[in-house]
Amino acid sequence: MNEVKTPKRPLLYYSICMILLLLLFNFILLPQMSKQEVKEVDYGTFMTMTENGKLDSVQIQDNQIFFKDKKSDTIYRTGVIEDPDLVSRLHTANVKFTKEIQKETNPMLGILLSWILPIFIFFFIGSYMSKKLMNRQGGSNSMMFGMGKSNAKIYVKSSGGIKFDDVAGEDEAKENLSEIVDYLHNPDKYRKIGAAMPKGVLLVGPPGTGKTMLAKAVAGEANVPFFSMSGSEFVEMFVGMGAAKVRDLFKQAKEKAPCIVFIDEIDAIGKKRDGHFSTNDEREQTLNQLLTEMDGFEGNNGVIILAATNRPESLDPALTRPGRFDRRVPVELPDLAGREAIMRVHAKKIKIDKDVDFTQVARMASGASGAELANIVNEAALRAIREGRQMATQADLEESIEVVIAGYQKKNAILTDKEKWTVAYHEIGHALVAAKQTDSAPVQKITIIPRTSGALGYTMQVEQENRYLMTKTELENQIATLTGGRAAEEIAFGEISTGASNDIERATKLARGMVAQYGMSKDFDMVAMQNVTNQYLGGDASLDCSEETQTKIDSETIEIVRTQHEKAKQILTDNRAKLDELAKFLYEKETITGEEFMNILEA
Ligand code: ADP
Ligand code: ZN
Repeated sequence: MNEVKTPKRPLLYYSICMILLLLLFNFILLPQMSKQEVKEVDYGTFMTMTENGKLDSVQIQDNQIFFKDKKSDTIYRTGVIEDPDLVSRLHTANVKFTKEIQKETNPMLGILLSWILPIFIFFFIGSYMSKKLMNRQGGSNSMMFGMGKSNAKIYVKSSGGIKFDDVAGEDEAKENLSEIVDYLHNPDKYRKIGAAMPKGVLLVGPPGTGKTMLAKAVAGEANVPFFSMSGSEFVEMFVGMGAAKVRDLFKQAKEKAPCIVFIDEIDAIGKKRDGHFSTNDEREQTLNQLLTEMDGFEGNNGVIILAATNRPESLDPALTRPGRFDRRVPVELPDLAGREAIMRVHAKKIKIDKDVDFTQVARMASGASGAELANIVNEAALRAIREGRQMATQADLEESIEVVIAGYQKKNAILTDKEKWTVAYHEIGHALVAAKQTDSAPVQKITIIPRTSGALGYTMQVEQENRYLMTKTELENQIATLTGGRAAEEIAFGEISTGASNDIERATKLARGMVAQYGMSKDFDMVAMQNVTNQYLGGDASLDCSEETQTKIDSETIEIVRTQHEKAKQILTDNRAKLDELAKFLYEKETITGEEFMNILEA
């Protein structure tokens, strides 16, 4: 993130220097230069000297009289006294005399002080302020307040020496991008055969999967400058600034070619222009400028634009058209092997017990992104320090997974006894239903310590292998597991709580997906009724069907969830003794591992 800017001129410093110099000149040097000795005398002396004919010239001012004697060059001064005869006396003594206001200060200096200096001061303060303001706006070449020229920002960021090796996992993405590295190394090879590199490559994936890292690694591998800008930075308060920045960025990039230009969060400027009410002029101008720039340069000039987004479907089609961002590189959440590799990369930066089983930890951190894994490793190191140890251990890593995913333990949140029992039964309910359905993953660990995230309990599922497909039965079992928490409360207390809201949400989403998206319903066969948006941000779905169908979808969804809920209740009723035993264990110990769980269940 080392942004190299053109050194900013310290304008305030300059103006202060200027003012000081002027003051020095006016009040010390100038008087020194024009200094002539003035001797103060009383009025009597003046009269005597006049009468004795010693005076050469006299100058009468409003409240003082300057006079010079004939011999020396000394100037005398005396106050003015009511003296009606003075003029006739001077005349008689044959003295040159004038009544003139002697200018004490140099006239030029007066003009300087009263006119030019203030102008200078205002100019400097004004331009200083406008520079300040423009820097806040990120610097651009617009002329604010009619002054202050562009302090064009150079967007070169050091790629931090990041190489492909630093990015663990993501092999497909790396393979995809290595072609670009090769091109940057050896453009002639491509030019000879007439092949043009894509101008733009879109890195698509959930947050924290290493898209920025990959872009930096491309620059690092190819050893070229890395220009980086975030989409949201382009969209500024002042209309026109965004477009100006795009122009600026590309101008500088072209000068430095071959190079990589990285635009993070490109969706901030490249959203579909879909005639919504809140059209953002600024964004549109910025996008248009970006498109113009991309069209404006030849495919082979060595500027490669990488952009990252986690909302690819919301991008304006104009951006993804051939000749623009026509290549798409998926950067997915890491799988088990990927997670392990990422952990290992980051574990190199801390002191860690050599016996740590990274595979085990990676398995526990299922679903974590690269950024979260990096965070987990760091949290483990912090925990080791807190506990006064020299190195992080397996236990540190395991606890950190919970911290990063579920938040810190909330020390002061005291559950009432009743609440604690409820949470214990609820969590065991999930786990027991999961364990009893052969296809569901058994739990890894359950804790019922409140977390800062608001969760009262936390169940860590185990993921055994990579899954790319889910069968209908598996989906149903998952729904049953989700309803298991509520089912346990019902069976144990005959009462239900608000603790199941998240379960309900997830179960509903799965069931609705089965009906409207995966063609697993009774009535709709293989007809898609919903579109998934935000695939990488939780996958919001929007229904796309008639109202009548919508009603039917709802009732089918309800039917699926109800059936699974009943199934969960049945499982728990059949295993009531185990449910009680496990819940008691969890209530007392506050944590239960998968092993302990299975021991009790199979005993
Ligand atoms: P994105 O741009 O996809 O949101 P970043 O590239 O900013 O993600 O990644 C954030 C941090 O997560 C990185 O600085 C790095 O520490 C860690 N990280 C993410 N993915 C990986 C990976 N594949 N290998 C190593 N570290 C990773
Ligand atoms: Zn639950």
